[in-house]
Amino acid sequence: MLKLTILGNSAAIPTLNRNTTAQILRHEQHAFLLDCGEGTQIQILKYKIRSNFEAIFISHLHGDHCFGLVPLLSSMSLNGRKTELFIIGPQDLQNYVQTQLNFTQAYLNFPLHYLVPQENNQVVYENANLEVRAFRLNHRIETYGYVFREKPKPPKFLVEKARALQVSPHLFKLLKKGIAVENIHGQTILPEQVLGQRKKNCSYAFCTDTAFYPEIVPYIEKVTLLYHEATFKHSEIQKAVETYHSTALQAATIAQLAQVQKLLIGHVSARYFNLEQEVVQEAQTIFPHTEYAQEGKTFLIE
Ligand SMILES: [Zn+2]
Repeated sequence: MLKLTILGNSAAIPTLNRNTTAQILRHEQHAFLLDCGEGTQIQILKYKIRSNFEAIFISHLHGDHCFGLVPLLSSMSLNGRKTELFIIGPQDLQNYVQTQLNFTQAYLNFPLHYLVPQENNQVVYENANLEVRAFRLNHRIETYGYVFREKPKPPKFLVEKARALQVSPHLFKLLKKGIAVENIHGQTILPEQVLGQRKKNCSYAFCTDTAFYPEIVPYIEKVTLLYHEATFKHSEIQKAVETYHSTALQAATIAQLAQVQKLLIGHVSARYFNLEQEVVQEAQTIFPHTEYAQEGKTFLIE
């Protein structure tokens, strides 16, 4: 299971009740930050989130996705962080961070490791149970989407069942590997007789900002939850095309093409003040299982 908390979802500028893009993704004991709009560190305090991130994934260098990064890093250091931190994002990200740190004579007490995705579907981060891949989106500047997928776990070995079927304990390891064995009476015991249910592997794709871009479908196919930007309603399709953003209908079309389980839309333009539900309803005409990425809300991905 993954857990996603929305810290901001506004496009371009913050409003009084909507911050710009930032999300926290948790998996087991690991935490990740996705984009870091202005004021993200205040949102972290407001929603009582521990900033013990292992990695930060930045989609692109437009201000509404990264203006909060250097202040957050500086506060993490002042709060005593010593653990290394991975930062994944566009080519100029390191220069952007380092320049601000240099000009403000800020010093970080922990090492930063930068990684720039080089090709579509490249693994940019992994641990024992999770893998993250990056792919290019279609925006005005270099922009990446990220997909987080749980690695398959071997099914649980049901030791009591194996004993009841009178299998010698020295053969347990073969059954665990999926190899059939004989019990003490010479009867064949199949692995599925002594293995539990395989757990479902959950996944999350983060796609912001982008024009309508079906080329991403192979990378996000069948994810449990897709976050896709929906800056405009379809009546403003021309504006979306000009600015390399998507409409709610286009986000829903991507969800449908990729056969995802559920769609979350955000990055809704500040012009739709209090009209978020209308944007969601528009998406639902194509993809009914759509929700709005409400700030402060946590979504369980299971
Ligand atoms: Zn942008």
